Amino acid sequence: MNNKYDVIIIGAGAAGLMCSFEAGKRGKKVCLLEHSSKIAEKIRISGGGRCNFTNLFSTDNNFISDNKHFCKSAFAKYTQNDFIDLVKKHNIQFFEKKLGQLFCIKSAKDIIDMLVSECISQKVEIFIDTKIKNLSKDENSYIVNTDKGTISSPSIVIATGGLSIPKIGATDFGYQIAKQFNLKVTELTPALVPLVFEKDILDFCKSLAGTSLNASIKINKTVFKEGLIFTHRGLSGPSILQISSYWVKDSPIKINLLPDQDIEVILKNRRISTPKQIVSKILSDYLPNKLSLAICDQLKVKKQIGDTSNQILKKVSNFVNNWTVVPSGTEGYKTAEVTLGGIDTKEISSSTMECKKHPGLYFIGEVLDVTGHLGGHNFQWAWSSGFLAGQYV
Ligand SMILES: Cc1cc2nc3c(=O)[nH]c(=O)nc-3n(C[C@H](O)[C@H](O)[C@H](O)COP(=O)(O)OP(=O)(O)OC[C@H]3O[C@@H](n4cnc5c(N)ncnc54)[C@H](O)[C@@H]3O)c2cc1C
Repeated sequence: MNNKYDVIIIGAGAAGLMCSFEAGKRGKKVCLLEHSSKIAEKIRISGGGRCNFTNLFSTDNNFISDNKHFCKSAFAKYTQNDFIDLVKKHNIQFFEKKLGQLFCIKSAKDIIDMLVSECISQKVEIFIDTKIKNLSKDENSYIVNTDKGTISSPSIVIATGGLSIPKIGATDFGYQIAKQFNLKVTELTPALVPLVFEKDILDFCKSLAGTSLNASIKINKTVFKEGLIFTHRGLSGPSILQISSYWVKDSPIKINLLPDQDIEVILKNRRISTPKQIVSKILSDYLPNKLSLAICDQLKVKKQIGDTSNQILKKVSNFVNNWTVVPSGTEGYKTAEVTLGGIDTKEISSSTMECKKHPGLYFIGEVLDVTGHLGGHNFQWAWSSGFLAGQYV
């Protein structure tokens, strides 16, 4: 470790690595500090080990932030196609799983190796297992006091990410630095996270653990139509993770278990065409058998459809097409994919990622109040914001 660098970057995750080699390309002497014994752990575990590294259709509409327009400059300067070109340059094989989501064919390690090899090419000095004791500022530089020595630089980049999955290295470091430098942080909550429920619904979910189907989930005008999975703790799957980013405590979510069809119309027709069939059997033509039985059990609907009143059919169709439930909470940061909220973007220049009040101090990636939908958008934000800061530090 030397004691003077052009740029010090704290956090060797997606955004920090990207920013490091981009600054290196401009001839900057870069030091990248990581407190864990391994870099880029979130990339390693992402996308089920195959890293959904970007999305072909990523736009600012895939992000939640107090300032929806903040991310536009970064995305304009570094797009998903730029990152795909980098992936291709490193001969990494990938495929589109669905909805524009690009995954590695082999493993997420390919992406980590690519980022490390770019850093090596640009002579970025990476220090793992390095604890940061404090960060201060004098007239011309930022001074970082670590357990391996004290270093300084005119530019410092905070790329320490959000709070999710503390056991692989997440900390509140970035938010503490924001506090130290008097920067506003918006409310932080776990997002892209499974939802949990009180006893009645929990028991229903437990009895169906492992059952999955396509469903649409709605809060106000926001709707996601993707997979839903019943679990021993409640509800999960892509549609639930997506809606969790919009869920506010004590508010209901509306679940349509058969999004493309009106089950009331179907049941009324079947009352005429197959009057002797029991309702759960008919439902199982459209829904998983276990779920059909559980719904009828829950609503105590046991009769043949021919003997079932309109009122009962309405109850069944409400459950199927408009199941309204109030989650008691989320599984929290231990399983959340991201943190919703972060350093207020009003504090940061959208064209450089530099802090308006403190020249030379930059924030990139998830630590900012920019939260992507599920599907590769969060990594694209890390790449784009890391790239942008790399051009100015
Ligand atoms: C299970 C899981 C799966 C995911 N899958 C996907 C996916 O497939 N696609 C997608 O787009 N997004 C995915 N995400 C989200 C994505 O991983 C993050 O949004 C992204 O990694 C954020 O990048 P970042 O560089 O800002 O932060 P991070 O990647 O979290 O990097 C922050 C780094 O800073 C280090 N750090 C923290 N505190 C300190 C400190 N005090 N001192 C020094 N270093 C510190 C951390 O150890 C870490 O290495 C997933 C997240 C999880 C948890």
